[in-house]
Amino acid sequence: MPTRYKNARVFTENGVLCGGFITENGRFAAVGSDAEMARIRPDGPTVDLGGRFVCPGFNDSHMHLLELGCVLLQAQLSPCTDSLAHVLAAVGEFARTHPQEPFILGRGWNHDDFTDERRYPTRDDLDAVCPDRPCLITRACGHVAVANSAALRLAGIDGHPVFVDGGRVETDDAGHPTGVLCENAIGLVNALVPKPDRAGIRERIGRAIEFVRGYGITSVQTDDLSSLDVSFADILGAYQDLRREGRLTVRVYEQCYLPTLEALDAFLAAGYHTGWGDEWLRLGPLKLISDGSLGSRTAYLRAPYADAPDTCGIATYTQEALDAIVLRAHSAGMQIAIHAIGDGATDRALHAFENAQRLCPREDARHGIVHAQVLDHTQAARMQRLGMHAYVQSIFLDYDSQIVESRLGARAQEAYPAASLLRGGITMSNGSDCPVELPDVMAGIQCAVTRMSFFRPAQTPYLPGEALSLTDALRSFTSFGAYASFEEHTKGRIAPGYLADFAVLGSDPFDTEPSRLHEIPVEGVYLGGKQIL
Ligand SMILES: [Zn+2]
Repeated sequence: MPTRYKNARVFTENGVLCGGFITENGRFAAVGSDAEMARIRPDGPTVDLGGRFVCPGFNDSHMHLLELGCVLLQAQLSPCTDSLAHVLAAVGEFARTHPQEPFILGRGWNHDDFTDERRYPTRDDLDAVCPDRPCLITRACGHVAVANSAALRLAGIDGHPVFVDGGRVETDDAGHPTGVLCENAIGLVNALVPKPDRAGIRERIGRAIEFVRGYGITSVQTDDLSSLDVSFADILGAYQDLRREGRLTVRVYEQCYLPTLEALDAFLAAGYHTGWGDEWLRLGPLKLISDGSLGSRTAYLRAPYADAPDTCGIATYTQEALDAIVLRAHSAGMQIAIHAIGDGATDRALHAFENAQRLCPREDARHGIVHAQVLDHTQAARMQRLGMHAYVQSIFLDYDSQIVESRLGARAQEAYPAASLLRGGITMSNGSDCPVELPDVMAGIQCAVTRMSFFRPAQTPYLPGEALSLTDALRSFTSFGAYASFEEHTKGRIAPGYLADFAVLGSDPFDTEPSRLHEIPVEGVYLGGKQIL
């Protein structure tokens, strides 16, 4: 049944239009003034949108839905990260109130926000609040975690130093593990956490889907395999279950994390490839992770950290290994998205893509760099020549704008590009990397246009020349996101023929102070023409 929506301010590619649209069979059938729409569809159901702002449903182009679902069941540490004492108290409280949990997990602390002692927690800190069971608390970024003694014992890394490829078990001066685990070393403990079965995965993803709905998100590009050691078949099966049950209220483009040639080959041999699926559930790029994060100093830089001259961070692949897996996926027709934050990691990723294109030229592969944070203009030019996409997370500026100068020194003058990518002809899209940050799209849009923190102390904008216009910021979460998944002709716009996914906002962002954009509430969400919020 066609439905007419009237009395709205509609965000279109040609500006904001006062009027409405008609939806039919899950798609927009027509868009225009109220008089025009009334002429096309004089009777039938009509919805008055009360003069509110309507934009295409938001598309978060890089996040982790399953991991979000897991975090929602753990100790929530981001609300108490103002001090180490609060974080530890929250872990203790969670352990006390969850006596049946065999493994105490928490997520979201950030030592840069601690006002008491600005350092990583240690095993001793955790032993004091959770002595009886294994405990692992992960930093907000996901690239550093701290285990208590019970967890270290269980993992067999309590005694002598252990060396981990692409990771680090930190030790004190006497050579004893402090409990701090970086990158691949986190897996030594994580592997021991009881895994959810397919039903457990389904419940966690279901919870996460409900959570993102409140932010106006109708499409996610999600990497669900890097966070938990579960099988690809179980992830796919869980999504199919949710869909059968009518609970798949977000369109999913899976960023398939297959970090080894063996895993990639098994995936390809099973007949999977980029584009497999339909408009509800589709397989996206091969996802690889080539370094860590800037906050935890595990992002791999060309030169040492300004505030830690003894380290350049951690590269998780050698150049040869990265070249081999990229070439295999590229030759098989896969899209590829590589997590690279440091300029050193980006160099390796670009080398791998250039090598693959030289040996096996392919048009419109839309390979991408996820994060692209420490990126200079020569690297951006190489991305442009390769037709690559940048998956940025403007909301990272909320925290990273406070540490970028100390981590990078002079190199901070050419980092977190956004406007210059667009000017340089590089396509980009926006996301949250949730659960690293909340999937709060309006907060991300605010960071994109202000280049400033909003939860943290006031400061000056970080490289204001890289600010996006509000129009481009909205596009980065809508039409630009659709481009990243090869769906720019079917979603991300309010235009005839496009999927009728849209969000109704409480006020017009174009009439709102930039510093208050994050306060704009999402008052309605429609997916394929059906109201879901
Ligand atoms: Zn991520």
